[in-house]
Amino acid sequence: VTGGAGFIGSALIRYLISETDHKVVNIDNLTYAGNPASLKDVENSPRYIFERADITDAAAINRIFSGYSPDLIIHLAAESHVDKSIEGSGIFMQTNIIGTYTLLEAVRKYRNENTDKNFRFHHVSTDEVYGDLSKDDPAFTEATSYSPSSPYSASKASADHLVRAWGRTYGLPFVLSNCSNNYGPYQFPEKLIPHMILSALAGKPLPVYGEGTQIRDWLHVEDHVRALYKIATEGQTGETYNVGGDCEMQNIDVVLKICAILEELAPERKQGVAFYRDLITHVADRPGHDRRYAVNCEKLKTGLGWSPQHNFESGLRQTVEWYLENKRWWQSILDGSYKLDRIGKAV
Ligand code: NAD
Repeated sequence: VTGGAGFIGSALIRYLISETDHKVVNIDNLTYAGNPASLKDVENSPRYIFERADITDAAAINRIFSGYSPDLIIHLAAESHVDKSIEGSGIFMQTNIIGTYTLLEAVRKYRNENTDKNFRFHHVSTDEVYGDLSKDDPAFTEATSYSPSSPYSASKASADHLVRAWGRTYGLPFVLSNCSNNYGPYQFPEKLIPHMILSALAGKPLPVYGEGTQIRDWLHVEDHVRALYKIATEGQTGETYNVGGDCEMQNIDVVLKICAILEELAPERKQGVAFYRDLITHVADRPGHDRRYAVNCEKLKTGLGWSPQHNFESGLRQTVEWYLENKRWWQSILDGSYKLDRIGKAV
């Protein structure tokens, strides 16, 4: 698993260790978004190994491949925050495009040296590669043409093209998945849902882009992880699978739901805050902001028998509860101390 110290990668590794008997090697270079504390449930498992390495470092990746002889790579390592890609896109090109290219070349070398090995590469991507939908457009299918709007989504689209090209040109056995917005425990507080929960608890403004009428299709990270495992192990080689939650919601409605849950679960608001929803502050919209994403994932449902198990109401409530109960996890991110863990406690 690449990017296993991130939000989705850590959920995937927790799943692989608790629900399967695979040995898992986590390749992650621990950017600001990587947090080993998200893996505390599995860190003592004899089937879990952490390799701190950058996916753009060909020598390190070659060493790891020959050291562990993987039969499956699930590639999640990426720069993943759209807002950050607008402020500075270079690292997105480097990690998401060059990093994927470096992995593909390492895989090519590894397969050439291990011709009898059964091997598969699963590239994890986003529905944002398809671009923008208007209200009445049908949801994205696997046949929808690419039209990315942000530096983030353009870099992910580029990586998708590389994977398919390596499949066509070099016979790489791959599967590819494009998923909608994820939510759930251990999500870095820069993303919409944790950002709103933690800002509300701190009595800070809840910034909503424009009117907040942008629509996203929300999927619980545990449902995404189950889909990833199914696609990786049962998907047809060379195929793409869309993953979504059948749960289109306007951003403003998500924020209002979070406020309502907090009224109930955390009624002791900061002084001067009459209601959490009073903290909502509309700010100038993000450049290039897509209006609507919606994902048709019939291929995954009918082909591989997957369906989401969480519904948004209970999943969101469980997520808010998790943040209320795991203050240490997010507090160490907010105060920066989570970074000390990776360079030694003495610092
Ligand atoms: P994240 O930002 O939480 O985690 C990314 C992880 O990748 C971090 O642990 C980071 O340290 C690691 N990483 C970054 N650059 C690296 C490098 N050069 N070498 C090695 N490791 C590196 O991201 P996430 O939300 O967990 O997303 C994981 C993947 O799923 C990404 O590819 C993303 O595009 C895709 N995706 C995310 C969502 C979502 O809603 N979060 C939806 C669809 C697809």
